[in-house]
Amino acid sequence: EIKDLIRLVSDIANKNNIPAYLIGGFVRDLILGVKNFDLDIVVEGDGIKFAEVISGKLNVGLIRHRRFGTATVILKKHLKVDIVTARQEYYPEAAHLPEVTCGVLKDDLLRRDFTINAMAISINRQDFGRFIDCFGGSQDLANKEIRVLHNLSFIDDPTRILRAIRFEQRYNFKIEPKTLKLLREANRLKMLERVSRERLRDELILILKEERPLKPLNRIKELTRFDFINSGLSLSKKTSQFLKSIESQISWFKRKYPKRRQLDTWLTYFIGLIDQLNINNIKLICKKFSFRRGEEKRIAAYKKLNPKFIKELSQDKIKASEVFRFLEPLSYEVIILIKAKFKNSSLQKHIEDFFEIYNGTHLYISGADLHKLGLTPGPYYQKIFHRVLNAKLDGLVKTKKEELELIKKISEDKSYGAK
Ligand code: ATP
Repeated sequence: EIKDLIRLVSDIANKNNIPAYLIGGFVRDLILGVKNFDLDIVVEGDGIKFAEVISGKLNVGLIRHRRFGTATVILKKHLKVDIVTARQEYYPEAAHLPEVTCGVLKDDLLRRDFTINAMAISINRQDFGRFIDCFGGSQDLANKEIRVLHNLSFIDDPTRILRAIRFEQRYNFKIEPKTLKLLREANRLKMLERVSRERLRDELILILKEERPLKPLNRIKELTRFDFINSGLSLSKKTSQFLKSIESQISWFKRKYPKRRQLDTWLTYFIGLIDQLNINNIKLICKKFSFRRGEEKRIAAYKKLNPKFIKELSQDKIKASEVFRFLEPLSYEVIILIKAKFKNSSLQKHIEDFFEIYNGTHLYISGADLHKLGLTPGPYYQKIFHRVLNAKLDGLVKTKKEELELIKKISEDKSYGAK
């Protein structure tokens, strides 16, 4: 699928006489033999127009980032192509193509973060597959080293501090000694504090989206600390244990329910990390990073959990409808956090039952059935559904017939306001 896509992009590039190269993370992972479904392509021409042609040919969506001259073509949920415009002045004429050397791409590559991310492969007809490595990226890959391209790299863009940690920990590489020295210097100069909050947030989210985020978090603790999130934040033994527990609960959920809504795992880890802070500090962080409303809501929902609620949920003898009433309004992320934090066996069982049984419980009856029974639609419909659902959860009704019988009984009860 990816090969076909590369051929298609290559054909479009050739037809329009636009030099194009695979670049960045895709090339790195291709050499490492790691799956990567994000094609990064640099074109020497109008990247947005180029992306429009691709999306038109494939009849798929396109996101344009006009300010950056880039565009993303989304093919499927897991497959996308990022097209980057190489600024014209950086490159000679297309006619020079056959003699592609580092010089052609060097300016674009020089702006990149690390040698392992600054390799390219030509997809032009004349030299299809030519590997371009101006900074020794393949050598660094072989030596498992993260290396910046120049001494001012972390000063130019301090988010690279977090990126270096992320790639180092993801691939079990080492930030090589000189790069590590530059990173520590940039940290001494508190360079992370100068980065825009949105960029910091985005890099933090990428770290928390890693398969095992505790690894980079430990490295952050060692190299930069967490002041860039909040000066009161640390990675204590207790927090580490909580995060480990979150990790195992997330993998339990993914294993057990691969088809359910995907968890926002980064948010779950993030809530686990900041759990140590008080609500005011958490509010400050939410404001600083301008999280989306849905994210903020889940953060607040966890922090504001009532201890009484945990106590009740920890009891052995509690009705299924009660468990449902407690857990149903909460997001999956918050429920997973509760399961990770409180080890009480009854609570664990209630949550597992909730996911396994109650969460998928539906009634056979619908509004149409109530109508057929002669009940005029109104707010009490909801009340009736609610009561029948509770009865069903508690095993008091099972079949559609029983559901209907219960409705009849309820509708005779005048306090329900049924007409
Ligand atoms: P991942 O596997 O995490 O997606 P990636 O290398 O594809 O890693 P992206 O963030 O998608 O990472 O960036 C794509 C490419 O853009 C990188 O490989 C790198 O060359 C370049 N890049 C991204 N961010 C920076 C940065 N802050 N400074 C310099 N180059 C960057």
